[in-house]
Amino acid sequence: MVAPTVEELEKLLRDDICGICDEAEANGKCVERDSGGCSLFQLFPLVAQTINETTSDDINVYLHAIREKVCTVCLNGPADSACAKRIEARCALDQFLPLIIDTIERSSGKAFSRSVL
Ligand code: SF4
Ligand code: SF4
Repeated sequence: MVAPTVEELEKLLRDDICGICDEAEANGKCVERDSGGCSLFQLFPLVAQTINETTSDDINVYLHAIREKVCTVCLNGPADSACAKRIEARCALDQFLPLIIDTIERSSGKAFSRSVL
């Protein structure tokens, strides 16, 4: 299996997630994406790396890793439970985490190229 690059994984996820995300407009545009407000794609290399470094059957283990490594550097909200975007279900990373994990792990076999990270 040829490991996809981070860019290829990002494209896969854009295809999977932007189509079901409430923030997307009917014409495919997304204000959040254009303004840097989508933490999933704004921080995607770090998201991919964090998931790649985590192995568990328990989603909470991934959730904890994302909170610790991604939320702490996210400019769209504080890392603690007070993140308004998370509370309002407006953070695509938080909202679609199981699908994101599944897509990255299934596609990459946890062995994607890190040369661009
Ligand atoms: S907020 Fe992010 S995941 Fe949602 S449509 Fe925009 S770019 Fe895609
Ligand atoms: S939950 Fe909040 S802090 Fe974490 S990535 Fe999403 S917007 Fe950023």
